[in-house]
Amino acid sequence: MQKKHLLLFLIFISLSDFLPAQQSPLHCGSTHLLEERKKENPDLAKQILQLETQLQEQMGKAQFRERNAIIPVVVHVVWVEQADNISDEVIQSQIDALNRDFQRRNENRLRVPEDFAPLMANIGFEFCLAGSAPDGTLSSGITRTQSILSCIGNTGSVKVDGKPRLFYTALGGADAWDTEHYLNIWVAPNCDAFLGSSSFPGIGPAEEDGVSIDPQYLGVFPENSAAFPFHLGKTLTHEVGHYFNLQHTWGSSGCDTDDLVADTPAQEKAYQGCPIHPSSTCDSPDMFMNFMNYVDDECLMFFTQGQKERMLATLAGPRAGLLDNDFCNPKVVTLTPPLSIYPNPARDCIHVVLKEDQTEVYEVLLYDAAGKIVAQQEGVGGIAERINTQFLASGIYFIQAKMGGSIYTGKVLVLPEAF
Ligand SMILES: [Zn+2]
Repeated sequence: MQKKHLLLFLIFISLSDFLPAQQSPLHCGSTHLLEERKKENPDLAKQILQLETQLQEQMGKAQFRERNAIIPVVVHVVWVEQADNISDEVIQSQIDALNRDFQRRNENRLRVPEDFAPLMANIGFEFCLAGSAPDGTLSSGITRTQSILSCIGNTGSVKVDGKPRLFYTALGGADAWDTEHYLNIWVAPNCDAFLGSSSFPGIGPAEEDGVSIDPQYLGVFPENSAAFPFHLGKTLTHEVGHYFNLQHTWGSSGCDTDDLVADTPAQEKAYQGCPIHPSSTCDSPDMFMNFMNYVDDECLMFFTQGQKERMLATLAGPRAGLLDNDFCNPKVVTLTPPLSIYPNPARDCIHVVLKEDQTEVYEVLLYDAAGKIVAQQEGVGGIAERINTQFLASGIYFIQAKMGGSIYTGKVLVLPEAF
């Protein structure tokens, strides 16, 4: 369908009580969230249309076609049971999965049907766990909050005065970090309400802007995990697609509604499982293997060039603040070229080398994510300093090397030995 079909988009946004075909839990809560917001705000449909018009104008500008985008991410883990307090390694596996999918490195891209293969796009976005917090302090890009609200991740019903508790520290959840500059991801149990959900850009309160996901579906796991068949981290890929203004490939419902992307064929409704290609609902093979569909993770394969244009235009428009910062490479870390850390990720030890004056003594400090010093020793510039990590809990650690008046910093991921 053609992206110019704004009239059809109007039809989409007026279907106030539509929900896509769903199982329990709902696959994706984003459309439901959007409909809820439209019910609360009668002017929203008009605003959405204005935003869409602006987006279409930006898509026509050549300078927005290609961007090197490094997107800082903060993950807010809001946990009730210890099992929901997911580890740093699982979170890192999810960041890696986002980068894999947005950079067309997912293995199953090789199985994209021949008729769709030329449409596959490398979106080119790089996601990082933010290295600095809004107040400028060093950060792991992960916050952890214990909650007593067992379904706090269900943003549609666990509310106070219309505000989902998840998004507010004062209501038992976790406040967003500046949503203009960080992609906020909340990981919280939602009692089978949905796998994941996202806000669309420019719509809804800024302090609630971002993605939420049940902890079961965040990260990459083996096939025999509880998350199967959504075990490869693609729920978040789908939700981040919404975050960058993509809609489901079937539009809202039926062959006459559109996702406003030119190269995704019309499709009547969501697919689930792992269908056989070609499958058709609207007189042409359906692109059920697109990340913006509902099939199993093993069968989700790609974004299209048209979806890429839409995401790039969004990044140049309502999401431009994500690029207007150095949170992926905070200032102290930009001083790091003299400091090298290897291996990274580490298992039983790391080596730190400060390639400075060969004779000057420096101090090396290793901090855990809570800011506690877990190792401290002296080294000499140019000589590798070995630090044992085998007795450390797995997770993200920060290294600080102090020499003279300079402080050099770096980050290292320590993995369990059997990982
Ligand atoms: Zn969705």
